[in-house]
Amino acid sequence: MKYSTDETPWTAELEELRRAELYRVMPSVKQMPGRTIAVNEKIAINFSSNNYLGLAGHPDIAQAFVDCVTRYGAGSTASRLIAGNTEPHRALESFIAGWKGTEAALVFGSGYQANVGILSTLAGEGDLIVSDELNHASIIDGCRLSKARVMIYPHLDLSGLESILRLSGFRRRLVVTESIFSMDGDCAPLKEIDYLCRRWGALLMVDEAHATGVRGPQGQGLAAEHGVTPEIQMGTLGKAAGTSGAYVAGSRALVDLLTNKCRSLIYTTAAPPGIVGAALAALKIIVSPEGDRRRAQLKENTLKFYRAMNPGPGGLSGPSHIVPVRIGDSRKTVRVSEACLEQGIFAHGIRFPTVPEGTARLRFTLMSDHTEEDIIMAASVLENAMSMVEPTERTGKICL
Ligand code: PLP
Repeated sequence: MKYSTDETPWTAELEELRRAELYRVMPSVKQMPGRTIAVNEKIAINFSSNNYLGLAGHPDIAQAFVDCVTRYGAGSTASRLIAGNTEPHRALESFIAGWKGTEAALVFGSGYQANVGILSTLAGEGDLIVSDELNHASIIDGCRLSKARVMIYPHLDLSGLESILRLSGFRRRLVVTESIFSMDGDCAPLKEIDYLCRRWGALLMVDEAHATGVRGPQGQGLAAEHGVTPEIQMGTLGKAAGTSGAYVAGSRALVDLLTNKCRSLIYTTAAPPGIVGAALAALKIIVSPEGDRRRAQLKENTLKFYRAMNPGPGGLSGPSHIVPVRIGDSRKTVRVSEACLEQGIFAHGIRFPTVPEGTARLRFTLMSDHTEEDIIMAASVLENAMSMVEPTERTGKICL
């Protein structure tokens, strides 16, 4: 034995996390497809799910999953370039390309794999990646893995972005942003960013993880809503599509290059055919009138939530279905989240390093399945729980 049981090589690091109120434990969840969830044996209305359109429990999607597993087996058995490129993979990619109006599309096992692989393939030595300061960890890690120079612009700050784009001496410049930001729910000004990219000759990559299925015509995303066509359009299938995986849509050459060089695509077992078939079934619903109805209901629920949180005339509205309630202090955020759960509302506390230090928050996410009663209850439970925190201690208003 190299160390005693109470003194491991990691003890001090874990202690430090506990002291800083940043220690994490996975809650024990009994998944209940729909608006409710059982967390640590407590049943609550779920305001922490990315299942924005309620598709994770859709019977047609579950059936597509079963059909594919029956036909192709549980696993894909190999990487895409060896023996794992099954019929469902090809069908999903061709559907995505048609839906997004691009020459081609490529499916990944997850959004994390997609971002890490795309960025490290497309940018290398002599290149510049320009990244929003609040971009997701998978984008940050993709930047780190690439051998490119990485420069960060202040969140959504167009003049900050342009001042970086004015710099010369790089072989290729690539701007990367989320469309709807995962932890803040705000939207990138994609039209303006696209204009700057054209003006300064930079490529644009947009991560539509939280807008896929939810925004734009047929749920194509925020770029489509803004009338913008980035060269690299990435989106995920584990959120509004209720399944798992991710895609990039763009030119044939982009997909060919990634197929040949992207390490997170090449050196991993292909996503199981069942999940790929299920994702295709989800996208078929997303583009259908049922998808339109679910998007409209999500929009309506978002408005209702803002109204419930800001009653009276002149109540605030918000940019998206992701609503951060900023508290600031990590310990208090956890306490407020626990108090909400006690009263039947699950809104997970988000702390550093997922969000910048001192900006801990509850992240409320709306679903099309929420009822008016759920929303009213959430607002009143939140108000009650927030009374534990002095207003002066909060770093922001209840809503953005
Ligand atoms: N990009 C953004 C903006 C995200 O919020 C997430 C969330 O997890 C990802 C990428 C990663 O996607 P996945 O969960 O499919 O790995």
